[in-house]
Amino acid sequence: MRVKETSESAVGDGRTQLASALTASLIARYYYPVGHVDLFITERCNLRCPYCFVENKKAKDISLETAFNAIDFILKHSAEGASIGILLFGGEPFIRFDLMKSITLYAVATAQREGRSFYFTVTTNGTLLDRQKLAFCRDYGIKFLLSLDGEPESHNLNRKFANGRGSFEVIAGKIPLMKCYQPWLSAWVTPTAEAIAGVVKDSDLCADYIIPSAFNRTVAKHVATSVAKAAHKTGVARRMPKGTSIYHV
Ligand code: SF4
Repeated sequence: MRVKETSESAVGDGRTQLASALTASLIARYYYPVGHVDLFITERCNLRCPYCFVENKKAKDISLETAFNAIDFILKHSAEGASIGILLFGGEPFIRFDLMKSITLYAVATAQREGRSFYFTVTTNGTLLDRQKLAFCRDYGIKFLLSLDGEPESHNLNRKFANGRGSFEVIAGKIPLMKCYQPWLSAWVTPTAEAIAGVVKDSDLCADYIIPSAFNRTVAKHVATSVAKAAHKTGVARRMPKGTSIYHV
């Protein structure tokens, strides 16, 4: 009787080990170790871009507990030894600079304790940047990506303050200061027809150029259609490509 119990338990252990090995192998095959996390610091923003995906701009911020848990999680589940990316995102993250600082300091301290490292980026509309914030970014290696929709006219069409004033002048005024802390600047452009028109040479403007190269309509037909409408409205598209009924306004 005792022999039977022992052999049943051995079979049970064997099955458990097999199941664990199979699970580990499936996880390794289909779920790669995470290496990057986007932290939505806040839904607040001082701009009112009509294409913004954050509706209503509520005074809603990430809790430190959630942010710290995310950092702990990614440290635990990332590939050993790999450097891990954190994107600080919003809304406008610099509205809650206090949260940005606490999260960065926690990540750096935790990573140091575990012999790991993080690299940081922040996407910002640039309007709130000052020496203090830029110095913090420089000291902790936080690279900033500036949201900018091309020329002043195209930028100010959408990227306005709550009072309706365009934000281009404020941002442009800060660019020399930004370059003191990060000599290269990287811009994040929302490709409205106006923004495309602002950066594409006049001689290059045509629907053939914009639609197939910027938007693959088999992937995002609705995007291609709405951009084509805007392009026709603004005169960006100068001619209709043959056999493309979706470009009709
Ligand atoms: S700056 Fe960014 S977060 Fe703010 S309203 Fe514009 S798109 Fe939205």
